[in-house]
Amino acid sequence: MPEGDTVYLSAKKLDEGLTGQTLTVSDFRIPSLATSDVSGATVTGTISRGKHLLTRFDNGITLRTHLKMEGTWQVHPLGTRWRRPGHTARVILRTSSTEAVGFQVMLDLVRTSSEEDLVGHLGPDLLGPDWDADVALERLRAEPSAPIGDALLDQRNLAGVGNVYKSELCFIGRVDPLTPVSAVPDLPALVAQAKRLLEANKDRHTRVTTGDSRRGHQQWVYGRRGPCLRCGSAIRKADQGPVGQQRPTYWCPTCQPLVG
Ligand SMILES: [Zn+2]
Repeated sequence: MPEGDTVYLSAKKLDEGLTGQTLTVSDFRIPSLATSDVSGATVTGTISRGKHLLTRFDNGITLRTHLKMEGTWQVHPLGTRWRRPGHTARVILRTSSTEAVGFQVMLDLVRTSSEEDLVGHLGPDLLGPDWDADVALERLRAEPSAPIGDALLDQRNLAGVGNVYKSELCFIGRVDPLTPVSAVPDLPALVAQAKRLLEANKDRHTRVTTGDSRRGHQQWVYGRRGPCLRCGSAIRKADQGPVGQQRPTYWCPTCQPLVG
């Protein structure tokens, strides 16, 4: 599942590849947009908001894409061979020199003036110009009984934390992911850490939360089968989250005692 840093990097690729260029082809390969066409429009920019990508055109239209579980954007010189199967392409944007292909993305077209209807519910974006730690803290504290693991993932509180960062942040903050928000010893530090981790990883493809980029050492607990890198205890894994939205959570029972 792409996290905020991956979405940010995708937005940057699209922004650098397409901004200021006029589309010669737009091809939307989903039934609801099969007849839509924005060719002739000039791309004015792409930004990320949480896990959404907003690509804006000078005709007042915005293409919103979401990477969901497997989605990815490739941006390359025209004529480059695709690295994903053609049938998984959902949107193709071409200019005289560049091609951008969104594979397995969710997409729609909206009026640029209505973007807020799509992303207005999101909390402050950890990598956005609107980042505001106080607002994020206020939103987190509004539901004091929510398990911190769920609260960090809830994009209405703060936008950009995915399942990997959720586990890693709880480890670094030394809290069991089931700890209620109200019992987290230092919530501001946890939020500040989220900002630091995403900033540190936003321009690279490997995700390092430990400061050690060697294979097998990049994350403290997420996806880890071996012993805890800090204390040697066996890392635990369990599904966490509201019914129907459970995601695997990893934690060290020794380093992360349950409180509250
Ligand atoms: Zn440990």
